[in-house]
Amino acid sequence: MARLKREDIDFTCEKCGACCRVEGYVFLEAGEAERLAGFLGMRLKEFKKQYTYWFFIFGRVLRTQSTGCPFLVNNRCSVYEARPKQCSSFPYWKRILNGGTKEWAHISGYCPAAGKALKPKG
Ligand code: SF4
Ligand code: SF4
Repeated sequence: MARLKREDIDFTCEKCGACCRVEGYVFLEAGEAERLAGFLGMRLKEFKKQYTYWFFIFGRVLRTQSTGCPFLVNNRCSVYEARPKQCSSFPYWKRILNGGTKEWAHISGYCPAAGKALKPKG
């Protein structure tokens, strides 16, 4: 299972919102809670309480609902300009690239753009 490189991928998001409805964890890096709170015009403490929680030793994550991310509105990211790096860097995550075609097949299960993005070898 060879590692994928960016050059192996020709990815264009189809804006379907499916990745925002997947059950999982959207981690916030340093400064991202502050950025989101500012974008929403909320106090940081209030934002953290309403929209996030601390996930064991791993860090702060968005509080997702059964429908996915709370910021997905009408199938669009309502905090797009301030969204976390985990969102803006999808699907170029180290874990996905290191996982090779097996991991890519997994994300292709919910992301229609990923299913079309692997360039043929050779
Ligand atoms: S912050 Fe925006 S891009 Fe990220 S999961 Fe939520 S709706 Fe999707
Ligand atoms: S699932 Fe894929 S195509 Fe759909 S919004 Fe997310 S990244 Fe774009």
